[in-house]
Amino acid sequence: MPQKLSAQRTGKRQKKREDRKTAHSGMAQKKENSQERRRQKEQKTIVANGAIEISLPPVSSVGEFARKLSLPVTAIISELLKNGVVAAINESIDFDTMAIIAGDLGFIVKLDESEESLLIAAEKDERSMLEKLLSEDKKSDSQPRPPIISVMGHVDHGKTSLLDALRETNVAAGEAGGITQHIGAYQVDWKGRKITFLDTPGHAAFTVMRARGAKATDIAILVVAANDGVKPQTIEAIHHARDAKIPIVVAINKVDLPEADINKVKSELSEHDLIPEEWGGKTVMAEVSAKQKKGVENLLDLVLLTSDMEDLRANPDRLAVGTVIEADLDSKLGPVATVLINTGTLRRGDPVVVGAACGRVRLMIAPNGKQIKEASPSTPVRISGLDLVPAAGEILTVKTSEKEAKFLATKVRQHREARSMEQKKIGLAKLSAKIAKGDVAVLKIIVKADVDGSLQAIKQCLSDIKSEKAAVQIIHSGIGQVNESDVMMAAAAEAVVITFHLGVNNDVKKLALREGVEIKQYDVIYHLTEDIEKTLSGMLQNEVIEEILGELKVKAIFMTSAKAMIVGGDVKSGKFTKDTVVRVYRDGEIIGEGKTDSVQEGKVPCDSVEEGHECGLHFIGKVRIQEKDRLLSIRVTVRKQEL
Ligand code: GDP
Repeated sequence: MPQKLSAQRTGKRQKKREDRKTAHSGMAQKKENSQERRRQKEQKTIVANGAIEISLPPVSSVGEFARKLSLPVTAIISELLKNGVVAAINESIDFDTMAIIAGDLGFIVKLDESEESLLIAAEKDERSMLEKLLSEDKKSDSQPRPPIISVMGHVDHGKTSLLDALRETNVAAGEAGGITQHIGAYQVDWKGRKITFLDTPGHAAFTVMRARGAKATDIAILVVAANDGVKPQTIEAIHHARDAKIPIVVAINKVDLPEADINKVKSELSEHDLIPEEWGGKTVMAEVSAKQKKGVENLLDLVLLTSDMEDLRANPDRLAVGTVIEADLDSKLGPVATVLINTGTLRRGDPVVVGAACGRVRLMIAPNGKQIKEASPSTPVRISGLDLVPAAGEILTVKTSEKEAKFLATKVRQHREARSMEQKKIGLAKLSAKIAKGDVAVLKIIVKADVDGSLQAIKQCLSDIKSEKAAVQIIHSGIGQVNESDVMMAAAAEAVVITFHLGVNNDVKKLALREGVEIKQYDVIYHLTEDIEKTLSGMLQNEVIEEILGELKVKAIFMTSAKAMIVGGDVKSGKFTKDTVVRVYRDGEIIGEGKTDSVQEGKVPCDSVEEGHECGLHFIGKVRIQEKDRLLSIRVTVRKQEL
C-alpha cells in the first residue's frame, strides 16, 4: 500500500539519495560517458562504397532491429522468413541472424560492445561477473564483513541438527523477536560479531550455485559423524570446498554416542589431506554434539578465527551486489528471493536487476522475520518486488534507475529467448537431418502410471519396440498424475506424454493444449504399444518411388505462358503418359521439373503415346523448355514405411 512520507522523512530520504548519488557519481559519470559513446556509435553510419555500417547488439527484438535499419518491420519479417526464421515483431533474434539479414540487405555489420553487450556476455559466466563487480571495491573504501558459512557433509551426519543448534546460540544471545523464518540463510551474533550461515537443505543448493559458477560462501563447515567416519558425500564436500578455494572447518559430530571414535575420524580425514593441528596439520577441528548442543560455542570461535585469516571485506557505500540463494513465488507477495549481499548496501526502493528479472525492492525481511530497510554486506535478506522468480546463483545488482534495470533485464530476457529458439531450431534441424540421412528417428516419451508394477511393464514393452529406422526414448517416468512440470518438460523436449490408469486434471490439460503437448491416456498396455508403433511409423520417412515411363525429344514449342507450355516431340522410348512428373534435361543436365496433365497423339487426346510416335503435351511448370530438350515422363508413388 503506498503511503505518504512525512516531510522530515522525505527530507532524510532526499539527503540519503543525494549521498548515494555522490558516492556513485563516478559510476554514473562512467555510465553517461558510455551511453554517450553508444549514441555516437549508433549515429555514426559510415558510408563506404555506398554501404552503410551499422552496429548491432548481441540480441534484439525484430521491431528494434527494423528500426535500426530504418526499414519497415514487415520487410524484416519477410527477409527472416526467406531465411527460414519465423519471428513476430516482439520476438528476439540473435546477432548472427541479424548479421545475415542486414548483410543480405547491403549493410556492413559490427557487434556493439556497449554495457548491455557486456551484461549478455556475463550471462554465460556468473562467477566472472561477480568477480568483476567485486573487484571494483577498493581496499581503502572497504570494511570488514561477516563470514558466510555453509555446512556440508554426508547424509545423516547431523548438518540440519548442527544448523539448528547454531541458530539457537543466537536465540540465547537475545536476538529473538518476530517469527523466525527459514529463508535459506540466517545470522548469528557471537561475541559481538555476526556470522552468516546458509541453511539450504543438503548441499543441493550449494551445488546448483557452484554449477552456475557463483561463489556463495567463505568457509565450509564439514560435518563428520564420529560413529560413521568419512563417507562418499564427505569426500564430495571436500572436493567442492577445494574447487571453490574456501577453507574447511571440521565439526566431528555425535561425540555423545558411545561408539564415537574421534581418532578414527581424524585419521580418515588425514587421508584426504585434512590433518588436525595437534597432529601437525593445519585443519581446525571441533568435537561437537549437535543433539546435546555441546561444543557449538567452540565451533563458532574457530569459525571466527578462520574468518580473521581470510580478511573478508566489502564496501557498504556502493550500489549493492548480491547472490540469489533461494527464490519462489509467494501467493501474497509474488516473486520473492533470498539474496545474500556480497557488497554494497541494499535499500528498500532500490531498482534492481537479477538476470531477466527486475523491479524495485518492495519488502525486505530479515531471517528473524522482521522487516528491515537496509541490508549491509554478508546479510541474507528476503526481498519482494521482482517481476519474475530468479534462479539460485543469479547475481542481483542495483541500478541508478528503474528504467535502466528494466532495459537490462529485457536485454537478458531477449537473449535467453533467442538462445532457446536457437536450441529448439538446432534440435529439430538435427532430427530432420537424421531422418533425411536415413538415420534413426526418435520418439521421446514421458510415462506416468498409477503403480510401479505397471510403470515397469510399460517401460519394458516400450524398450522392446525396436526397428532399424525408429526408436523410443523415455525421457522421464514416474508414478502419479501428469503435472505441470511433466508438460513443460515435454514441451521443451518435444515429447509425448503417456499415462496409464490415470486421469488428467483440467489445468494440466489446458497447459498441454497451450504448449502443444500431446497427452495420451491408456488403460490397456497392448493398446498403448500398438499406438506407439503407429506413431513411430508415422514419424518414419515415407519412401518415394520413381518409375520412368518414357522419354521424348522436343521438336517444337507451340505455346508458352507464365506457368505452362505446349510442346511436341518424338517418343524415343517407353510411353509418354499424362498425369506424370516431367523432368527436363538439356545437354545431359537436369534443368527442372514440372508435370503434364494431358497428352495427345496427333490431334487426339489420349492417356499415353507409345515409342516411335509423335506426341503433344501440356506441360505445367516454370521451366522454359527448348527444342532438342529431353523430357522424361515419371510416375512417382509414395510408400508408407512400416516398422
Ligand atoms: P543431516 O542429514 O546431515 O542433516 O542429519 P540430521 O541433522 O538430520 O541428523 C540425522 C540424525 O542424526 C537425526 O536422527 C539426528 O537426531 C541425529 N543426530 C544429529 N546430531 C546428533 C548428535 O550430535 N548426536 C546424536 N546422538 N545424534 C545426532
